[in-house]
Amino acid sequence: MDGQYSLSMVFPAYNEQDNLERLIADADRASGSVSDDYEIIIVDDGSTDRTPEILARLKESYPNLVVHTHKPNRGYTAALRTGFAGATKDLVFYSDADNQFDLQEIGLLMEKIEGNDIVVGYRKDRQDPWIRIFVSRCFNILSHAVFKFSVRDVDCAFKLFRRNVFDEIKINSEHFMVDTEIMSKAVLYGYRVAEVGVTHLPRTAGQTTVKPTDVIKTLRGMIWLHTELRRLKKQRSPG
Ligand code: UDP
Ligand code: MG
Repeated sequence: MDGQYSLSMVFPAYNEQDNLERLIADADRASGSVSDDYEIIIVDDGSTDRTPEILARLKESYPNLVVHTHKPNRGYTAALRTGFAGATKDLVFYSDADNQFDLQEIGLLMEKIEGNDIVVGYRKDRQDPWIRIFVSRCFNILSHAVFKFSVRDVDCAFKLFRRNVFDEIKINSEHFMVDTEIMSKAVLYGYRVAEVGVTHLPRTAGQTTVKPTDVIKTLRGMIWLHTELRRLKKQRSPG
């Protein structure tokens, strides 16, 4: 399997200055272990810390590093949209820039891409505050009921796609709805989805951007997505 597919790794980054050095070293090692042809795409989502200068320096040591910059900050979903649009390889992987995953475990996803279009991680022992884990469980149950996908950890930022998936799945949402949007559109278009358990680590540098008020935004996002899916279904089978 090694070297069979080329690989784009995408990471949205907002004020992650203390995570970037390790992130890119780990990403370079991990992608090099599963592919001979890879690129590491960082989307600097309008960072106001030292992210731009650190990335400029790292580009000198990592020729496979590609940087896209938003100015000002546009949010997680927009950052992923930019990253996916810039990806040029056969497979597109994404994760967060906060070093909460073991990137070497991309090998587990690569093993399952054969015969599937999307491979989705789930956090085996999630290292976040209990309240977030609780809210996230409720959100997963609710989205299974509404959107008919069955992946157990929809927001797990450790996913691998065949790039052609994005020819059909267009990301139109905002804020943090991107994962729910992708997985519900995967159901609509009949993509084959596999799941694999991955390790989750505590954040040791930088800060989460998730706030309690995001629950309201997420519920609004679900209503928007429901309408969006109805529109697409009508387009596919008019009348
Ligand atoms: N992020 C981003 N733009 C934003 C907010 C976050 O690109 O406006 C990035 C952030 O740097 C991280 C990822 O998105 O790489 C996930 O964000 P965060 O760590 O805040 O979420 P959590 O991991 O706590 O769910
Ligand atoms: Mg995180």
